[in-house]
Amino acid sequence: MTVRLDTSVQFLKGIGARRAEAFTRLGIRTVRDLLWHLPHRYVDASTVTPLARARVGDDVACVGRVVDTGVQPTRRGLRIFRAVLRDDSGVLECAWPGQAFLDRTIHVGQLLLVAGPVRFYHGRQMAPREFVILGDADGEDEPAGTDAGKVLPVYPATEGLSHKIIRGLIDRHLETLLGLTRDHMPEPQRLRLGLPALDDALRAVHRPHSVDQAEQGRRRLAFDELFDLQLMLVRARALAKRARGGVAFEIRRELTSRLKDALPFTLTADQRQAIREITADMIAPERMHRLLMGDVGTGKTVVALFAMLLAVENDYQAALMAPTELLAEQHGRTLETLLAPLGITPELLLGRQTAREKSEARSRLADGRSRIIVGTHALLQETVSFHRLGLVVIDEQHRFGVEQRATLIGKGDTPDVLLLSATPIPRSLALTLYGDLDISTLRERPPGRGEVRTAIRTGAHRDRVLEFVRDSCRAGRQVYIVLPVIEESERADLRAATTMAQRLGARWPDLRIGLVHGRMKADERDQIMRGFRNGDVDVLVATTVIEVGIDVPNATVMVVEHPERFGLAQLHQLRGRVGRGAEESHSILLVEDRVLPRLEAFAATTDGFKVAELDLAERGMGDLIGARQSGGFDLRQARLPQDADLLSQARALASEVIQADPGLEQPEGRAMRQRALARYPKAMELFRVG
Ligand code: ADP
Ligand code: MG
Repeated sequence: MTVRLDTSVQFLKGIGARRAEAFTRLGIRTVRDLLWHLPHRYVDASTVTPLARARVGDDVACVGRVVDTGVQPTRRGLRIFRAVLRDDSGVLECAWPGQAFLDRTIHVGQLLLVAGPVRFYHGRQMAPREFVILGDADGEDEPAGTDAGKVLPVYPATEGLSHKIIRGLIDRHLETLLGLTRDHMPEPQRLRLGLPALDDALRAVHRPHSVDQAEQGRRRLAFDELFDLQLMLVRARALAKRARGGVAFEIRRELTSRLKDALPFTLTADQRQAIREITADMIAPERMHRLLMGDVGTGKTVVALFAMLLAVENDYQAALMAPTELLAEQHGRTLETLLAPLGITPELLLGRQTAREKSEARSRLADGRSRIIVGTHALLQETVSFHRLGLVVIDEQHRFGVEQRATLIGKGDTPDVLLLSATPIPRSLALTLYGDLDISTLRERPPGRGEVRTAIRTGAHRDRVLEFVRDSCRAGRQVYIVLPVIEESERADLRAATTMAQRLGARWPDLRIGLVHGRMKADERDQIMRGFRNGDVDVLVATTVIEVGIDVPNATVMVVEHPERFGLAQLHQLRGRVGRGAEESHSILLVEDRVLPRLEAFAATTDGFKVAELDLAERGMGDLIGARQSGGFDLRQARLPQDADLLSQARALASEVIQADPGLEQPEGRAMRQRALARYPKAMELFRVG
């Protein structure tokens, strides 16, 4: 049969039903999948050290044939696997402590590449960090001598399919498979970006002469991947913004101007810029589909209120939905204060209101008496309808599902949409996660707030930290103490919230200690949080459940136990709960005994975007996407933030292409669409509609 890119790998020589089955565990079904199955690393054997010249203290790579193996017990009960290698220059012993099972993998007669430090233990001995079997006792050796064989690709492998088998199969079919590919990237673009042609790129990643060359190849494939994703996202953005049936808001300068005059503070430059961007969206014939991103305390609510008033002065209603009752109440109060001079009272719709309160609120929404509505999920109920809903604002947007957002939006007359997020992310990540949205950012903090100082203290200072907590409380302030687990039984080595709350209660009988964690009922938790907000609790001991947006200006100290257990972005979210009043605030990270560089870097900055960059560099992209957006697209070849330059280029090119051919229906566009959909089948519906 003739092999095509979408042929099952099963039909390739050397792959039968069993191996094909094993390949599916790696996500490989078709020939295309196999060709795009990239090595996750390379072993550079171009600088191999002869065994006799591996000196104690060096870190080297060596190649030798296995002449002896054995498992040795030690006195401490640890079993060590040993293998002796020989080459033309001499012999070297290798030892793998605690890995007696290698007995089943490494055998006499094999040609082995090992890399690791050489130490002295009854003679020279290497403790390999990694090894690659280059040849079996009975089979052929890999061409370790030729130039092409010196940089060895190591593939993600699975049971029944070693990386060596995968390497052999790809190598065997590589030229045939390359003949099936077509490069859709226009030559001028490719040359402008300095990227290799597709077949050269694939050859370079699978059969590189140098690690550098492999990296060049990977970047080309990464570009394709990012470009395909951006095609989908730019298309999604265009669809979301499609013209709203003749409705465009007009700038009337009535309520919005009155709000500006009545504000008890001046807006920051970032806030003014965001308001300009939002206003421009709202008066345009296309729908607004914008994300307003900024750390807690940067003043997103006021910005959202300007948008809401613009809708109201155009005779529309505006709704603000928050993920919890507490946050909705807080927004309600903020809006009430800010709107009082304008004679407008916001409507509240919460789950805990009485049936009568709710039904009255609903009727005011339905007949249009209420113009500004703040609520929780209660807004989503079928019985809630609006007179003329022109703007939907969603706070902490990621805490709502796509369908929930769509339900609220569906209650309006193609309303404009403004999403709020208190999780700043770097531009590269934003383009990937939120590429279908326009983005405004608030980076600057309003003046007049106390600074948040971050300090790192070790366990030896725990008592002093606790004294500081007590003194702060006696001075009338409030304190958060955050712990990674609820109960000690979960992890014996970690301090737990319940134990801490008990201890502090016994230690400070005069202080009121509250406890909140994820296993409490939501209303119980809300009640304690309310108590803290109202000043009835001095110290709130908590796991990470404390609300992101909670605003308690009197809370000035945040202690985090085991900060090493948290991601940097999460730590930043936590410290955002203090520093909301005029007082200087403190965030104290209590480590056991060692100060980690990542925590030092974190303590040195207060900028959420900078923290987000550190976080991205630390955790990598896949993890972040997985955590933030289930059902999101995964990236296999691209790496962020390293490939951020490719990402911007891919975005620019995708925008050009979609602008010229929105549905990708021209011949060139169709080929691009096919390829992108083969990669991201979930995006199919983007091209089904007009
Ligand atoms: P976010 O939602 O971004 O966390 P909020 O909108 O809740 O922040 O604002 C936090 C507090 O800061 C509110 O009390 C708000 O009234 C106040 N605030 C907002 N903008 C300014 C400003 N430009 N100057 C001073 N205070 C401001
Ligand atoms: Mg907020």
